Amino acid sequence: MKKIEQEIKFHKEKLWAYWRKNLGEKFAKHPLEIIQWEATRRCDLQCKHCGSPRENVNLQSELSTKEVISAFTQIKNGIDLSGFKFITITGGEPFLRADLFKVLALFKSFGWITTIQTNGNFLAQNPERIPELLNLGVAGIGLDLDGAEELHDDLRCRLGHWRQTRELVKKLLKYSDVLHTTVTTVVSKQNISSLPNLWKEIEILDSHRWRLLPIENIGRAKNKNLALDRADYLNLLSFVTEKRLLKLNEQSVQTELGCVGWFGKNLEGAIRPYVWSCIAGRTCLGIMYDGGISACAHIDRAFLQGNVRKDNIYDVWENSFEIFRDRPKQKICLCCPEKDFCTLSMHKLDAFGRIRECVFNNLTEGR
Ligand code: SF4
Ligand code: SF4
Repeated sequence: MKKIEQEIKFHKEKLWAYWRKNLGEKFAKHPLEIIQWEATRRCDLQCKHCGSPRENVNLQSELSTKEVISAFTQIKNGIDLSGFKFITITGGEPFLRADLFKVLALFKSFGWITTIQTNGNFLAQNPERIPELLNLGVAGIGLDLDGAEELHDDLRCRLGHWRQTRELVKKLLKYSDVLHTTVTTVVSKQNISSLPNLWKEIEILDSHRWRLLPIENIGRAKNKNLALDRADYLNLLSFVTEKRLLKLNEQSVQTELGCVGWFGKNLEGAIRPYVWSCIAGRTCLGIMYDGGISACAHIDRAFLQGNVRKDNIYDVWENSFEIFRDRPKQKICLCCPEKDFCTLSMHKLDAFGRIRECVFNNLTEGR
């Protein structure tokens, strides 16, 4: 028996080594696969836990329609997009851009597939525009539900928003054959105990995907003691793996953890339908609301490598993204048992490049 176990372990390790080698080769070639566009920082909600609030940003410096068209045309004409998968639009609230449909038409003319993360207000008020979005190549919409009705409405500071979101999800699911609907829940100390009840709602809704994102200590959530501790992480992981097993056994919602970091070889593959790696700057490019050129829309602005208003995006992608592609291991990583496999989450670094939080360490507490 022991021999079989040893053999399984040996082959598993070989597979991991193979995976890491392939990933390293891919990152070295850095094919652009995903673009994230932070369309605006304006928002018509003031959620208490927002990671990208509109405060402390200069809303006047938002890119104009002409600048947006010019930037994306430059990407289309300048960068090799043979491996391109999709562009995802985030905010702020993307639908507050009056030119959003015009820009979507541009993306469609490029043959791009688009996904949009929205608070749902615009589509709830204008559901007749959903087919128009589909015609413009939108293949995915993401909405948020943060817990039970009362808690969600409180976090969103908008009475009735939970019901509105639920109704909108139902409407979007009518287009299931061409539109992928994701519900995201930011998990914090406030709502972790209500996940089982929320699951019942999500299961009734039958959205395609339920993405759980542990809260980040940034934006309006900063220093509010909402972050998950080790016990919370353990609960969350056992909850997610249990729901994922359900998916394997029957038609059920795809429950998964979001793009937050490396959880260790024992868990990777079981908590998401893929093994996580940080693609920021390696296969992913971010264009920020003010033209900042980033590696991913979620990383600290201290890492911006230029601006579409003055820099050539191809040059930046080719010549200024080395810090994202070859990330030196940090002190905390040197004695980490996972250091050869973890690709270091870029958005977990503070403005000085220090690791703010490591989910694997949270879980093991250095054990
Ligand atoms: S920076 Fe964060 S959100 Fe972006 S790809 Fe890396 S882990 Fe994912
Ligand atoms: S300590 Fe470093 S190498 Fe280890 S999991 Fe955390 S970020 Fe990755």
